[in-house]
Amino acid sequence: MAATSMPATTLPPHHHLSLPPPSPTYAPVNAHRHFANHPTILLINQSSNQNQLKQIHAQMLRTGLFHDPFSASTLISAFALSNLQDINYAHQLFDQMPQPNVYTWNALIRAYSSSETPIQSLVIFTQMIHRGNEVSPNKFTYPFVIKAAAEVSDVRVGQVVHGMAVKTTFGSDVFVLNSLIHFYASCGCLDSAYSVFLKMPVRDVVSWNSMITGFARGDYADKALKLFKQMQCEGLRPDNVTMMSVLTACTKKLDLGIGRLVHSVIERIGITRSLNLNNALLDMYVKCGTVDNAQKLFGKMPEKDIVSWTTMLVGYAKSGHYVTARKHFESMPNQDIAAWNALISAYEQNGNPKEALNIFNELQVSNKAKPDDITLVSTLSACAQVGALDMGGWIHVYIKKHNIKLRCHLVTALIDMYSKCGDLNKSLEVFKCCDDNNKDVFVWSAMIAGLAMHGHGRDAIKLFKKMQESNVKPNGVTYTNLLCACSHTGLLEEGRDLFTKMKPIYGITPGVKHYACMVDMLGRAGFLEEALELINTMPMPPLASVYGALLGACRLYGNIEVAEHASARLLELEPWNHGAYVLLSNVYAKSGKWDKVASLRKQMKDVGLKKEPGCSSIEVNGCVHEFVVGDNAHSQSKTIYGKLNEVFEKLKSNGYEPNRSYVLQCVEEEDMQEQALHLHSEKLAIAFGLISLTKSQPIRVMKNLRVCGDCHNVAKLISKVYDREILLRDRYRFHRFKAGECSCKDYW
Ligand code: ZN
Ligand code: ZN
Repeated sequence: MAATSMPATTLPPHHHLSLPPPSPTYAPVNAHRHFANHPTILLINQSSNQNQLKQIHAQMLRTGLFHDPFSASTLISAFALSNLQDINYAHQLFDQMPQPNVYTWNALIRAYSSSETPIQSLVIFTQMIHRGNEVSPNKFTYPFVIKAAAEVSDVRVGQVVHGMAVKTTFGSDVFVLNSLIHFYASCGCLDSAYSVFLKMPVRDVVSWNSMITGFARGDYADKALKLFKQMQCEGLRPDNVTMMSVLTACTKKLDLGIGRLVHSVIERIGITRSLNLNNALLDMYVKCGTVDNAQKLFGKMPEKDIVSWTTMLVGYAKSGHYVTARKHFESMPNQDIAAWNALISAYEQNGNPKEALNIFNELQVSNKAKPDDITLVSTLSACAQVGALDMGGWIHVYIKKHNIKLRCHLVTALIDMYSKCGDLNKSLEVFKCCDDNNKDVFVWSAMIAGLAMHGHGRDAIKLFKKMQESNVKPNGVTYTNLLCACSHTGLLEEGRDLFTKMKPIYGITPGVKHYACMVDMLGRAGFLEEALELINTMPMPPLASVYGALLGACRLYGNIEVAEHASARLLELEPWNHGAYVLLSNVYAKSGKWDKVASLRKQMKDVGLKKEPGCSSIEVNGCVHEFVVGDNAHSQSKTIYGKLNEVFEKLKSNGYEPNRSYVLQCVEEEDMQEQALHLHSEKLAIAFGLISLTKSQPIRVMKNLRVCGDCHNVAKLISKVYDREILLRDRYRFHRFKAGECSCKDYW
């Protein structure tokens, strides 16, 4: 900018500007208002666009008015903070001022603190400090510097600023301290936040709100609720913000009792409920499982927005009221894409992925709204659940055709869908097409999970190394997938090594899932004692999944002693876990202890355990077909059973013999008859695949439970006798059957 070099001597003489002396230690805000009523300055506030402001700037340079700190700072703050914001321009102007006053420094620091580059606030603050006595930060400086530190999540910087503030008189300013509470809480340092809170000489509602919010968001629901009580005892009146945070805490605790209590407090003290507060109440009722209460509240709400409507929609779907959900959707004032998304994800996330796909199809046909990223991610997830590869592939084509930007979450969803539908190559293709610089930790983690699922443990570890070369920091999810990969492929040494490096090298504290992976890994390798030892040294109480893993290993090695111990612990934690009974009975069956198998079955009946019915799905020409054991519901049922009989005749002549011990092992399936073994859902699905797919198409079957030994055996034989490739995804892994062999090497 040419104007920068304009020396002061070129000022037209008739202006007689009497410039104020340089500010002494620090200038009170907006001192020296010599020109406050100057017509040019008044014009600044009346400007309606940036061009006008720029013209005023030019004029101020011509007249020399720009050299008056007050006038210049008024212009700068117009560029920095008004709705005509152009921070870069404000910054340029700032650089032209020989001695910006504290007001100008603050304006820029404040503007950057809520910009896309909050780090700039910290840079400018540092420059300000280096000016020494010329200018000093004041109580309006610190809160925004602290806010910037919170934005960049830099604890150390925040601590330094905290230290500086303490040395000044502003260390006890409520505004400064409130921003410190917010800063520490948002960086996850709740202890520090709380210690600031405790030491405050005076606390206002914002102080309480910041601390309650910090606890509620940081998963310390109990502390949040306790503080809320204390706040009331000290006679402070909670406001909308307080109640929103308290409701967050109730929702996290899934504590309907306290939730109701909070609702009554709101009514008793007469807080005017904002739309957001009503929505928070709705959310609490829905998440705590009382859709009736939510419905009542919803009916009374004077104002509703898309959040209110979709919260109700999710509530209906979650509680299985699908018909009501649908009706609710129809009555929504605005069936925009957000509404469709709510409906699709409600089904997708609540165990009805097939219906989610139907709704997506309906959306396509009706053309009422255009699918967005969220629609596609939900639908891809539904495809992954039922194994709808054609549909998933179709969405991939749709994304390409409509030039939809492949953001990380969409890439992650595609990789996940292809892996879970059994097409690892496609999944790798998507991964490779995505530029390395654009891959976030979730994309890498999804690909590692895909490799793990398909038993490519070494490739998963290789990919993990590449991920580090790309400077992407692994998180807990990455590590779970990685350990899972080692466990599925039997890479014990590698797994042990990774586990020990987890905390010291990658800074990830091992969680329950990681321990469960390690127990699984050790167990599979036959180190049952070591697995038990690991469980005993866990710093947290082991969840059911940990004992489940141990029990699974016992099934492989037929270790009754450890199995009984593990299942007892597991059933203490989850008395309704029917998987525990199944695995234990498998262990008994393997050792021929049929009396124990029988008594377990009786026990299950006595406890009134509902068995999860075995269910398999297969996609043919874009349509998903579902089968349960002994199913007659399919329109081609007769043909399917005909085919199944033919298959068994053919297999028997090839040496197949149904294994009666499997009948007894399969407590998860409904009937103990040998006939029932023939009718396991995956066999029905495979038979249907044989009828309806061409020889070149692999038969892909998704099963919700662990595949039984007989079905595994039959699938192997079919792959040989009929020369077909069969992919079977059970609850735990993929089995790829080809030429009589399975990719799991009978190790599952
Ligand atoms: Zn079976
Ligand atoms: Zn297998």
